[in-house]
Amino acid sequence: MDGFSLSLTEAVCLGASLGLSGVFFYLHKQSRKTVKKLENAPHLSIDGKLKDLLNVTPGGCLQYVVVEGTVKPVDEPLKSQFHKEISGVLQKFTIKEHRLVWSNISRTWMESERILHQRLNMVPFVLVGSDQAAVKVQSPLQADGVYTEITNEKFHLASYGLGDLVGIYLSGEKSKGHLEIEEMLKVGTTLTGIGELTLDTDGTLTLRPPSDNSPYFLSLADFETLRNETDTIAVWWKALAVVSALAGTAVLFWAALRFYRTVQVRWKQEREIREFARQQAEAARLRANRANAEGPQDGANSNHVENVCVICLSEPRDCILLECAHVCCCYVCFQALPQKTCPICRQNIVRVLPFYQP
Ligand SMILES: [Zn+2]
Ligand SMILES: [Zn+2]
Repeated sequence: MDGFSLSLTEAVCLGASLGLSGVFFYLHKQSRKTVKKLENAPHLSIDGKLKDLLNVTPGGCLQYVVVEGTVKPVDEPLKSQFHKEISGVLQKFTIKEHRLVWSNISRTWMESERILHQRLNMVPFVLVGSDQAAVKVQSPLQADGVYTEITNEKFHLASYGLGDLVGIYLSGEKSKGHLEIEEMLKVGTTLTGIGELTLDTDGTLTLRPPSDNSPYFLSLADFETLRNETDTIAVWWKALAVVSALAGTAVLFWAALRFYRTVQVRWKQEREIREFARQQAEAARLRANRANAEGPQDGANSNHVENVCVICLSEPRDCILLECAHVCCCYVCFQALPQKTCPICRQNIVRVLPFYQP
């Protein structure tokens, strides 16, 4: 399209929306793939027969399976720092600082938080089913899904002296306090694990992150909830992809509308120019017709605008004024001039001569 262009802002918006749409669509496809994998994964019970099944499986490995069992430590469990009766196999301790930061843009205090300290403790654990059969869980930190519970959460409010207030005013940062969180994967919790199940040479069953990079899940929720959550996420990615694509289309539509308006204006100007040329040609044709009808005695150029007296605008110019030598009026008008000065240059007229057109 000739002349179709995008402004820098439009180009950036279009690029960003199309790029985001692509990313969201990719994430949607990935989530859909995960949902499909989850739906096709066999559900196995942790019992005495599980080992037999893996014994007859080639390579002693099942690529992607769903198992459910109770968390049990291999050795000594970890104890909660705050509630001695709670024991677990994985403990995450975090201290977050909640701050108010002065924003010069919005001229208000904005909420902000940062992690000041994080500590992780872990002991090997298994998922226990019936018959005291157990599956060892490997690399739990690589797993997606929520598998810890908050066992302690406490907010320590910050207190200030007068000197601190001056510091706050100067730095534009105000600490609200510290949030202390302890999360644990408790012993005795029922956990859903989805991943690769192998039978090691020492006879241990192990659940590990799949070697084909399929998502590894450990979750407090049951399989159906996990599947539905993944499905919902896929729907959200799709909705975001559609919205981004629509935003890109809107930008294109806006640019096209502006281009259409420009083209319309150009078309209108071209129509006007053509109409003027047509009218000019028509007027010339009418003049020529009239000149023919009136005969040659008036002279071919006698009625031409350029040859008409500048004072009466009707008679042909038929005298030459001296010394300036202007040919601008008819003799009748020259005679009627109140002062004998040239109507064009105001020079004194010293003499007048008749002017003959060839
Ligand atoms: Zn005249
Ligand atoms: Zn003159």
